[in-house]
Amino acid sequence: MRATTAIADPDALLKQTWDLQVTDHPRSLQLLAQLNQHAASLTADQQWRLRLLDAWEAEYESDYDRSEALFKDIALHSGNPQLADRASAMLLGQYGITRHYIEAFDLAGRLAARLPQVADVKVRYALLLNLSQAMGLAGQTDLAVRYAHMAMAADSATDSRCYAAAILVDALWNGHRLKPDSPELQQAFEACPAATEPLYSTGIAVALADVYAHGGQPHKALALLDQLQPRVDASGYVSNKLTMLEARAWALAALGEDGSARKAALGIIAAGPSSDFDLWLKDAYEVLYRIEKKQGNAAAALDYHEKFAVLDKAYLDDAHARALAYETVQQHVLAQKLETEQLSRQNAMLRMRQTLDAKTVETNRLYLALLLMALVFAVFWMLRLKRSQLRFKKLSHLDGLTAIYNRQHFMGEAERVLHQLERHKGMACLAFIDLDHFKWINDTHGHAMGDDVLRHVVAICRQHLRPADLFGRLGGEEFGILLAECSREQGSAIAERIRQAVEATRVESDDLTVEVSISVGLSSTDAAGHGLQRLCKEADGALYRAKRSGRNRVAADAVDDIAVKA
Ligand code: GH3
Ligand code: MG
Ligand code: MG
Repeated sequence: MRATTAIADPDALLKQTWDLQVTDHPRSLQLLAQLNQHAASLTADQQWRLRLLDAWEAEYESDYDRSEALFKDIALHSGNPQLADRASAMLLGQYGITRHYIEAFDLAGRLAARLPQVADVKVRYALLLNLSQAMGLAGQTDLAVRYAHMAMAADSATDSRCYAAAILVDALWNGHRLKPDSPELQQAFEACPAATEPLYSTGIAVALADVYAHGGQPHKALALLDQLQPRVDASGYVSNKLTMLEARAWALAALGEDGSARKAALGIIAAGPSSDFDLWLKDAYEVLYRIEKKQGNAAAALDYHEKFAVLDKAYLDDAHARALAYETVQQHVLAQKLETEQLSRQNAMLRMRQTLDAKTVETNRLYLALLLMALVFAVFWMLRLKRSQLRFKKLSHLDGLTAIYNRQHFMGEAERVLHQLERHKGMACLAFIDLDHFKWINDTHGHAMGDDVLRHVVAICRQHLRPADLFGRLGGEEFGILLAECSREQGSAIAERIRQAVEATRVESDDLTVEVSISVGLSSTDAAGHGLQRLCKEADGALYRAKRSGRNRVAADAVDDIAVKA
């Protein structure tokens, strides 16, 4: 190729190439070559736009593999949403041509979902038109009509409106919904004036003629066809020419003009097949078959019928394949939707369970804390209770005035200790102590002094006792001492020492000094055994004797009646 100077305005050239694609294809090819030659000097976005032009050209040249690859590359990697959508729309159209129906309807679904995001008028328009055609292929006439209506509303530019109106008429026609009085026909004629849009205007009129021919109005069909013929011949547009021949054959056959009908039908056959499910050809063979049959040419009729049957089957198969592909994609989309819904349901359940688990853990923690608090509280209270119980118990064991064992506890403890001693043959002495002339002290010095004296005597006794000995107040001014592990002699000695100590001390209060003495009666396990009752009895007897024999003395039990001091 001849080297050219750098492109002055690449954007303008790209647009120009695009605009000339249909109207002046050879010129647009030249410009495309020029652009490709200087591709390296273009910006990234300009290069992507050039690639779209290349793709269009590849599709135009039926190099579908190349165009598909280019469309996909632009859709995925251009980073320009408008360009990507445009490429996708064109790919959708190509899938229809190449009969990649599954891919077509799959892409149609994705593009339909993208529609709300497509703001660019031209891109939106292109998408809607391609969607309309894709839905027409799928046999979804309602959708095809709806998308075509949307396309008309999307772009108000005159040429756009005309093209969309023509597509709308096409959608109705293909769906066998076009009637001579369909308002869409009138609308399309208005949108595509013959003066400015001769191709589309003629195409719409041809569609109307076909509707007349197949709708029982052959005269009207023929009149319109005659009127259109010069325009169609001038344009050389094959599609319109074949449709007209087909409509003419059909109308003439309906009028019984077999010769002319045959001529028209053979005209279609002469044009040659355009694809392996050529609708025009199929209709031509059908007309020919009917004419031959009517005229009794069985062999010719059979021949045409066979040809018609093959094409009819191919057409039906294709229609079936399209419908099936559409259904397949719909099912696939539905399955995906269900799967997504189920997944999101599962996720929601999982999240709920997690929240619940977290709440349960939190609640459990709270319960545990409460339980622990309750436990600590309970233990605390139990300890307090126990302590107060113990204190109360201890207090209940003691005499209020002197804080030594009271009679009941003393007796109980004495019995227990005696039992223990009995088991290992230990000895013990029981001493009963009674203050001498205590009533006199009370009477003379008062009850308070009496109390002082009692406490005083108790203190002296304590000084002579060992930890294992028991000491209790038996009542009034009487006390008991159980001397454990103590022989009779030892017991007498201790009692004597106590007596002497009491005798030796003076109780002083205010200006008073009081002298006190005690009498002691002593019994011992040596003589009386370990029975408490017996020991008490003997000690009592000894005390009685000590009192009788003059007080301030120790008397031992009857077995060996020793008076330590007279
Ligand atoms: P004896 O030498 O024969 O034992 O004569 P006594 O006066 O000591 O004996 P008596 O049984 O006649 O008197 C005991 C007195 O002890 C009578 C009672 O008022 C007095 N008494 C008893 N308990 C208490 C007390 O807790 N405090 C005081 N201050 N006096 C008490
Ligand atoms: Mg007494
Ligand atoms: Mg007394």
